[in-house]
Amino acid sequence: MKVLVLGSGQLARMLCLSATPLNIHIEAYDVGNDWLVHPVSGHFNGQSLQQAIDECDVITAEFEHIPEAVLIPAEASGKLKPSADAIRAGGDRRIEKALLDNANVRNADYRIINTEAEYQQAIAELGLPLIIKTAKEGYDGKGQWRLKSDADVATAWPQIAEVIAASNGQQAVVAEVFVNFDREISMIGARNAAGKIKAFPLTQNHHSDGVLALSVALAEQAELQQQAEVIFTAIAEQLDYVGVLAIEFFDCQGQLLVNEIAPRVHNSGHWTQQGCFSSQFDLHMRAICGMQLGDTRLIQPTAMINILGEDTIDEAIYALDGVTVHWYGKSKRAGRKMGHINISASSYDQLLATIAQVNTLFPAAGLADLSEIVKL
Ligand code: ATP
Ligand code: MG
Ligand code: MG
Repeated sequence: MKVLVLGSGQLARMLCLSATPLNIHIEAYDVGNDWLVHPVSGHFNGQSLQQAIDECDVITAEFEHIPEAVLIPAEASGKLKPSADAIRAGGDRRIEKALLDNANVRNADYRIINTEAEYQQAIAELGLPLIIKTAKEGYDGKGQWRLKSDADVATAWPQIAEVIAASNGQQAVVAEVFVNFDREISMIGARNAAGKIKAFPLTQNHHSDGVLALSVALAEQAELQQQAEVIFTAIAEQLDYVGVLAIEFFDCQGQLLVNEIAPRVHNSGHWTQQGCFSSQFDLHMRAICGMQLGDTRLIQPTAMINILGEDTIDEAIYALDGVTVHWYGKSKRAGRKMGHINISASSYDQLLATIAQVNTLFPAAGLADLSEIVKL
């Protein structure tokens, strides 16, 4: 099998690392540079996008902000999994919010804003505090405004108006009520073309400066897992989804609210590389290539720490029991996702102890007080 991945970053690389044992060959399309590249070796294959589309068996995507000029020929080939509409739902919060409402799943109350009048009306109707998010192109907390006071309301509007005006009619913003959550969790799972669904155990996520810093696979919480799987199924079926899908939730005293979806493998699922027999990357390849889905059960307590903006870490981390290090081969830039560290242990106490050790050796992870952060 030959799979073309739209996007050539670390997710394409890790998909490729999981595809090889399945005898699946991967080529990646670098959307920004308009060239085809092998996502592990970095070799260029010289093909055009259309040639690659014609030659492959399946097309998939590692990010949701894909230009229509790429999405349309990919969809037209009949090989794109998940569908262009599923990818668009992840890339435009207007479509995403409509999807969540249509699937009847709880999400933060919101308004779509194109004009100053709509801005004022949203504030009057929803009240403060509010979070404003650009409909398109936001990630890692970028393209957001937090409105807590009337002063924030006044300062933010000119900036928001400028973003909308510069977008040539493409952009709007979504205003969302501020959710007072206890913690953020996510569910990663897959649906195959036969409609079979498998999900991983829920993951608890901690962000620092809007970027994911730590994910911990939750010990079994049957009720919460069940609640999330019902929501996952509703969204996946609504989209007739094929592949791995990620859903971010706010946990409000045991009630799950959907924050957003990602129509792809997800940073908060990287721990599955060591935590499960079938990782999210393996699961995605199986789902899109028409194979049986793999074993998504947790082998032992596992967590992940992101490596942001650094291209080396203390050598002592490599020597810790239960620790694996995954680099993405990217050049160093402040705050950039450069790699991650997976940590497994025979018990949650041991897992927290090893996370604390990594945190001491790698203070850049910025995990201040683990006892506050990890609420298992
Ligand atoms: P990602 O990198 O996960 O795609 P993003 O830029 O798409 O991020 P969101 O996930 O929507 O942004 O928001 C970033 C973070 O802001 C969330 O993880 C959460 O901590 C906070 N946040 C977002 N929406 C709300 C909300 N309605 N109420 C409270 N906090 C929120
Ligand atoms: Mg997002
Ligand atoms: Mg998010």
